[in-house]
Amino acid sequence: MIQCSWCGASNPDESRFCSACGKDVTVPKPEPKVVEPQVVIDQAVSPQDKELAEKAKTQNVIWLVLNIISSLMGCCFVLPLVFGIIGIVFSSQGLSLSKTNVLASKAKAKTAMIMFIVGISIAVLSWIIYLIVIVLVGSAGFLDSLSSGYYY
Ligand SMILES: [Zn+2]
Repeated sequence: MIQCSWCGASNPDESRFCSACGKDVTVPKPEPKVVEPQVVIDQAVSPQDKELAEKAKTQNVIWLVLNIISSLMGCCFVLPLVFGIIGIVFSSQGLSLSKTNVLASKAKAKTAMIMFIVGISIAVLSWIIYLIVIVLVGSAGFLDSLSSGYYY
C-alpha cells in the first residue's frame, strides 16, 4: 500500500496516481513553505531611527512639562501664558509625531523650546516687575503713613 502524501489516502502499491485526489503518489508532498513573519513597522525602522524617534519623544516630553510649568508661572500675566500654551500645543503635536515623522517631531520640539524660553523669561520678568511694584507701593504707603504721621 502506498499512502498518498498529498491527501493521506491509501492506494494500491502499483498505483501511480492517487485514487482520492489524483495527484502523483510517487512525488512526495513538498514541505509547506515557511511563511515569512510579517515585518512589523516598528522592526522595519532601523535602531538608529528608533533612537532618534525616542530622542524626539523625550525632547517633546521635556518641553511639554517645562511649558506647563512656565504657563503656571505666567498664569497671572497674559503674555507668558500665551507662549506657554503655544509651547504645550507644539510639544504635544511633536509627541504624537515622534513615531511617524521624526524630523517634524524635532521641529515641534524646537519651537516648543523657543516658546518655553520666551514664556519663562517674560514670566520671570513679569514677576520681578510685579514684586518691585509691590515693594514700591508698599514703601510708598509706608512713607505716606510716616509723613502723614509727622504732619499729623
Ligand atoms: Zn491523494
